[in-house]
Amino acid sequence: MNKSTILTGDRTTGPLHIGHYAGSLANRLRYQDSHEQFLLLADIQALTDNAHDPEKVRRSVVEVALDYLAVGIDPARTTICLQSHLPALAELSMLYLNFVTVARLERNPTIKDEIRMRGFGRDIPAGFLCYPAAQAADITAFKASIVPVGEDQAPLIEQTNEIVRRINATAGSVVLPEARAIIPKAGRLPGIDGKAKMSKSGGNAIALSASSEQIRSSVKAMFTDPHHLRVEDPGRVEGNVVFTYLDAFDPDQDELAELKAQYQRGGLGDGKIKARLEAILQELIAPIRQRRAQLAEDRGYILEVIKEGTAQARERTEATKRDVVNALGLFQL
Ligand code: ATP
Ligand code: MG
Repeated sequence: MNKSTILTGDRTTGPLHIGHYAGSLANRLRYQDSHEQFLLLADIQALTDNAHDPEKVRRSVVEVALDYLAVGIDPARTTICLQSHLPALAELSMLYLNFVTVARLERNPTIKDEIRMRGFGRDIPAGFLCYPAAQAADITAFKASIVPVGEDQAPLIEQTNEIVRRINATAGSVVLPEARAIIPKAGRLPGIDGKAKMSKSGGNAIALSASSEQIRSSVKAMFTDPHHLRVEDPGRVEGNVVFTYLDAFDPDQDELAELKAQYQRGGLGDGKIKARLEAILQELIAPIRQRRAQLAEDRGYILEVIKEGTAQARERTEATKRDVVNALGLFQL
């Protein structure tokens, strides 16, 4: 039986954080054996809002690849590839832009949110507005039918499928499969300030490569319940970032439920819950940090993994491009 294909990836805008772990990496580890899996280092998509800082985008390619390997992504089972070295993705993007309207791109809820978060106003880079079409190219070029992502990405998968249906209708045959998002129940992890979602660019993240001192100070600075002033006061667990993180990472959810009840009644201090969270995060991150440091010593190996994966991905994506061009009946020389 053919395994179904998964495509996901990350923008190369900085090292990955614990939001990625909860939101996407854990799922990717789970699917390594049961599916054919490609991970895209999305450096071209990273440029859509970082054109002023290509150096950061370049540097982050190896950082993200290191994070993949450090959490246990195995290059023998998962293909890691680099977007800027897959020309078929750019060619498909140009084709797909003719199958989507500017109005539809502007209405996309993810794009609307991200434009607001980045404060673009009217000065939206054209590449940014159009990145949903490029993401459709990424997904379909691998003929992926499953995309494990954070919940912020769901509208982008919907947009991909609209483009796929238009292309299939124009071609008069099913040249591209539709894709299904797999979204973890935990939803998206907020940043340590409790305001926006944790993101690489937001300065509110705990990196998977964080030092134990960084973990300690991030947990210390974490937003709890501003009205929970004395230990004996009743506290709120909703919107309390420490409990949100415990929900995502605490291996003992029964004990956590008891602690929540105690916190709500009064009599449990922020110091105690922060100490519990810190211990859990230290334990989660320490082995990742250690493996990452080891891997970082052999840059040649990391480059080899990316090169080999990209060569495999090139074959796959070129074949899809030929399929689409043929199915649409463009001129052949
Ligand atoms: P940037 O700030 O550059 O946009 P990011 O932290 O948002 O970076 P992306 O590379 O945009 O990370 O996202 C990669 C994947 O990780 C996506 O599937 C996204 O849904 C998921 N993801 C990102 N942040 C979170 C989060 N805080 N919680 C859960 N999933 C997340
Ligand atoms: Mg993002």
